[in-house]
Amino acid sequence: VNVAVVRETWSNERRVALTPEVAKKLKSKGASVLIERGAGDPASFPDAGYKDAEVADAAAVLGRADVLLKVQPPTLEEIAQLREGSVVISLLQPHLAPERTRALRDRRITSFAMELLPRTTRAQAMDVLSSQAGVAGYKAVLIAAEASPKFFPMLTTAAGTIRPSKVLIVGAGVAGLQAIATARRLGAQVEGFDVRPETKEQIESLGAKFLDLGVSAAGSGGYARELTAEEREQQQRALAEHLKGIDVIVTTAAVPGRKAPRIISAAMVEGMKPGAVIVDIAAETGGNVELSEAGKTVVSANGVSVIGPVNLASSAPIHASEMYARNLYNFLELSLKDGELKLDWDDELIAKTCLTHAGEIRHEPTRQLVD
Ligand code: NAD
Repeated sequence: VNVAVVRETWSNERRVALTPEVAKKLKSKGASVLIERGAGDPASFPDAGYKDAEVADAAAVLGRADVLLKVQPPTLEEIAQLREGSVVISLLQPHLAPERTRALRDRRITSFAMELLPRTTRAQAMDVLSSQAGVAGYKAVLIAAEASPKFFPMLTTAAGTIRPSKVLIVGAGVAGLQAIATARRLGAQVEGFDVRPETKEQIESLGAKFLDLGVSAAGSGGYARELTAEEREQQQRALAEHLKGIDVIVTTAAVPGRKAPRIISAAMVEGMKPGAVIVDIAAETGGNVELSEAGKTVVSANGVSVIGPVNLASSAPIHASEMYARNLYNFLELSLKDGELKLDWDDELIAKTCLTHAGEIRHEPTRQLVD
């Protein structure tokens, strides 16, 4: 089986779906590895490092691919160059671009959307959402620290004592917990909150304080559900008062398959101290903060900076690619037997992650969206 990788073409995308380490593992499993010239350059993996792969141009790589590994969804042009019946493993954002799903279906490509991977214990080593969210949480705190006019740690100096920054992390999933850990390492006084009650213990185990806003909304599958209007109002009221004392906020809240919940209103930001900084990781998916704009820094009238970073995972491309490539390898390995690809449709990880196969859309919500 030919496992192929092309250079990512989205602007700002520096990750690559295959590292030299994973190329070696694939070869030892009997696969042949093809990589587009320069595909690893943006992530600092030069061609020469891929000793177990054949380097070729994009057209040759796509035309010979049995399995194409990608970070961002393939473009319509790339899909058109793939052979019928080939396999694509990538993030595919099926809710965003119906024409892409149609193209995959119509070319009879077997596509796996890594967003659809069930979040079971067995799937953890394949979970790209988790590995990349960890990078985002870490980077968001560094961006906040850089933009803040204050120190994070407490300092005792000859010029007097500097009090530590008060940092609030909103949403304590994978990104939020990494943000809490990072802010703690920088010495800030950290609080976190989430609507899933089990996060209290997780937040406290990282040495942060759980901010109790009196709202609990656990949904299914370990995720949050959307808040009712009443719950939302209660959360907002309790939060507005609390934010007056906060120096830095990092927001990470998400609800699967929906726009990011709006948690911090413009009025709340106007009640904050001048110089306060907010980094909204959810800016790209609708925003947790009313004022945030993806790719921009908005400064409110009272001097609060609201930063909306895009594609944070791509900003630490070496480690993000290493984790991403290992995640994809662990998923692909389920189907590699003696150098051949054998898809076991009885395996729920294969069946549930599949977006298109044999000219059909296998993921019901996407099928309804596309047809
Ligand atoms: P996510 O990106 O969907 O959401 C981020 C966080 O936002 C979640 O913790 C969610 O509860 C929170 N949130 C949603 N609405 C909110 C609101 N109105 N106010 C405050 N917070 C709000 O979630 P995620 O980080 O991908 O993971 C969610 C859960 O799944 C976590 O418990 C995680 O540990 C678990 N998980 C399990 C596995 C596994 O076992 N394989 C893998 C990954 C994640």
